[in-house]
Amino acid sequence: MSPTGLTGHRQTRDHAAVAVVCDKARQAFQKWRSLSVSERVRYLRKLRLYMVQHLEHLAEEICRDTGKVPVEAITADILTVLDALRHTEKHAVHVLSERSMPTPILLFGKKSYVEYQPRGVVLVISPWNYPLQLAVIPVISALAAGNSVILKPSEVTPGVGHLIEKLFFEAGFPQDVVQVVHGDGKTGAALVAQKPDYIFFTGSVSTGKKIQQEAAKHLIPTTLELGGKDPMIVCEDAPLERAVHGAIWGGITNSGQVCMSVERIYVHRSHYQSFVERLVEEVNKLQEGRDGDDDVGRMTSSAQIEIVREHVQEALDRGARMLAGRPPLEWEGERIPPIVLVDVTRDMKIMREETFGPVLPVMPFDSEEEAVRLANDSPYGLSASVWSRDLSRAKKLASRIEAGNVVINDVIITVANHHLPFGGIKESGIGRYHGSAGLQTFCHQKSVMVDRGRRSKEVNWYPYRGKFPLFKRLLQQYFGERTYWFGLVRSYLQLLRKSR
Ligand code: NAD
Repeated sequence: MSPTGLTGHRQTRDHAAVAVVCDKARQAFQKWRSLSVSERVRYLRKLRLYMVQHLEHLAEEICRDTGKVPVEAITADILTVLDALRHTEKHAVHVLSERSMPTPILLFGKKSYVEYQPRGVVLVISPWNYPLQLAVIPVISALAAGNSVILKPSEVTPGVGHLIEKLFFEAGFPQDVVQVVHGDGKTGAALVAQKPDYIFFTGSVSTGKKIQQEAAKHLIPTTLELGGKDPMIVCEDAPLERAVHGAIWGGITNSGQVCMSVERIYVHRSHYQSFVERLVEEVNKLQEGRDGDDDVGRMTSSAQIEIVREHVQEALDRGARMLAGRPPLEWEGERIPPIVLVDVTRDMKIMREETFGPVLPVMPFDSEEEAVRLANDSPYGLSASVWSRDLSRAKKLASRIEAGNVVINDVIITVANHHLPFGGIKESGIGRYHGSAGLQTFCHQKSVMVDRGRRSKEVNWYPYRGKFPLFKRLLQQYFGERTYWFGLVRSYLQLLRKSR
């Protein structure tokens, strides 16, 4: 028996077993939803404290399963989850509480409010690149909102999947409120077929499209957090030294296996040469393959190494030059040495498709117009960065970039601020999470209007006889160039008389 009560047969791809998990989730939902938000949030606090007590162990497990270096495990996976937990503990009660709304004057005498109600059973399907963060953050948001959750973590990082299961067990969540189902894409598809009330998916565009198609058959609402091909625009007035270091961290951290990593670098021609020289110099200083204090870890999956190999080889075959790193034939084992490519063209895979590896392809541009055109020339729209000392210029440029997130003079970090909604546009996804948006995503918004019930009829109820000219005058008095309050009240009173 596993910690959350899943027996072995339920971990199979068998649809019947998956159905049992969903039934249990439905039953658990009824009790869980009846708790107040502050009662639910107490479990999140326990989870946070348990995690803080076991930081070393968590980091070790993540590193073992993914090949990350420890600093990346503790910052990008663990810290982000702890911050999301604390943010939710602090804000969930307010964000999910009943919200009084204005009522228009023509609906005189009534009150309006919005209630946030849980959706039911939420299915979270997560990927392998940040296997803790990308699974746990949507799970805790859905839980705080009062849903029960089924999590299907990635089969590529099963150790972290089991670790997450243990974390929720140790935090003492009630039976079946969170269930972790281990398995591959077929298990994910079987869970989708169970018609959960909401699907929160993080992963590739191709799987996202499959899930959306299945969900559409039953009108199941979804959030899709998909891939990216993030551009970095380095203007002629950029803080160049910072931009070089930002490009390296943004493109190489987690061996480039980041949905928001720097995947395309566009540098103003006036700085192009010096930028590339500094980039190569600094990339060559990165440490890898020595010990736990390295800068660069190994790749997490061999399938991903093949994709990176294909993109780099195609670029080299078509005339790109490699100024740092080694060609694919010289790669060994699960490591890809950080690579700098120049003389790349916009039709190469390395500039069009998600590479998800430690590769920095650099291209010059001559004008801001050209930079925006190049940056937006992509089916993706997850994140981007703009580098300039002139912040008003940078903000204007940021507004023109087709992406759900843009960072000025930094990279990636919008995802680390839980006050900001996170998500992509175009093929990078549908919907937002994190912060208030992330809690409300997991709720039905119920709109309620209240009338004290003192009048026997409303003015627009039957009978209609003789009311049209009065309504016409009322509309002219209210919506015309000026509002004629006196006439408006008179028309309204006449309508009231006709409604007796
Ligand atoms: P993937 O699409 O292969 O798998 C993601 C998850 O979906 C896994 O748990 C997998 O088992 C499951 N799955 C596969 N087929 C399924 C199906 N038919 N039905 C239901 N579930 C199915 O993605 P991956 O390789 O694990 O992750 C890498 C991708 O994720 C990259 O494209 C990356 O950009 C993207 N990603 C996006 C974000 C974001 O926030 N936008 C964050 C991280 C990763």
